[in-house]
Amino acid sequence: MADERLRVALLAPVWFPVPPTGYGGIEWVVALLADGLTEAGHDVTLFASGDSRTQARLSAVFAEAPSEWIGHSQLDLRHALSCLVRADEFDLVNDHSGPLAFALAGLVSTPVVHTVHGPLADDPGAIYEQVVSLNPRARLVSLSLTQRRPRPDLPWVANCPNALDFSVYPVQAQRGDYLLFLGRLSAEKGCHRAIAVATELGLPLKIAGKCREPDELAYFRELVEPHLAHGIEYLGEVPHGQKVELLQQARATLFPIDWDEPFGLVMVESMACGTPVIATRRGAVPEVIEHGVTGVIVDDYRRMAAALDEADALEPLAIRRRAEERFAPERMVADYLAAYRTVVGAG
Ligand code: UDP
Repeated sequence: MADERLRVALLAPVWFPVPPTGYGGIEWVVALLADGLTEAGHDVTLFASGDSRTQARLSAVFAEAPSEWIGHSQLDLRHALSCLVRADEFDLVNDHSGPLAFALAGLVSTPVVHTVHGPLADDPGAIYEQVVSLNPRARLVSLSLTQRRPRPDLPWVANCPNALDFSVYPVQAQRGDYLLFLGRLSAEKGCHRAIAVATELGLPLKIAGKCREPDELAYFRELVEPHLAHGIEYLGEVPHGQKVELLQQARATLFPIDWDEPFGLVMVESMACGTPVIATRRGAVPEVIEHGVTGVIVDDYRRMAAALDEADALEPLAIRRRAEERFAPERMVADYLAAYRTVVGAG
């Protein structure tokens, strides 16, 4: 039973290709999982846009990821249904696409394991609670234990922290002189706080991030754009190669979040490149960063400037080594397989 070959459907979000060409944390994780499960001998079908690249069998409703239409639920629905109508062909469906597909999962007899990628406070938590009340067979995977905190009684089957393909994030032993902010341009990710820290230190700050949606554009105009001078630079949303160069040459990555981040792949990407992360103690930060080993955790972003010396003392190769030990794809694939087997065995 333990090494039985599983027929797995992986349902990715529809909005970006797998792996993504620019922004996209979930898509990277699904890409690694699809390849890792396939390499482990399982029969994997990845439901994602046609411009995805995978070792699994690809099933696509849309030839290209409809990124310009993000949030249009009809596209999300078509994509989810294309997987669920075929559920009988699989031993298990692992859904990473969001609550819509999860809400439909009760309609099929094949077990569906849903990975929660977002936070569970407020509305999203209430939605999950209601879906579970309609579907007693619903099963959930978290990315961090913190993520579960607002809804500890949901039917969790496993905690599977995200992983990284370390082969495409080479480490560099020498650091540059600038600070880096990488992520979405939104208040919760704290780019404006990174600007305040860099200004206090008198150091250059390179900002790379997604700024496409109306709230991101409004945030950018109000809290970022007015500060773009004297070494504070916005580079736009960066593709993979540029991202790696930026990470490798940064003195530290600032992660001044102001929300309960469910995971935060940017932290692992930075660690992979040997660059310490200075982060605020929110969400999954203490589960991802080991204080004094791979980065520095502060209680208030106003203490970030003072934490730079401590971050400078962390050795790039040691940071990388520790990140590889904890966030290797093999570990994540094993975590997911264990979760799948619990659910298939129980069925
Ligand atoms: N990202 C990127 N280019 C950008 C901005 C972000 O490639 O300009 C990537 C980032 O490196 C990470 C992902 O998008 O891999 C964001 O995932 P994370 O979990 O850090 O944050 P989320 O936005 O999902 O909350």
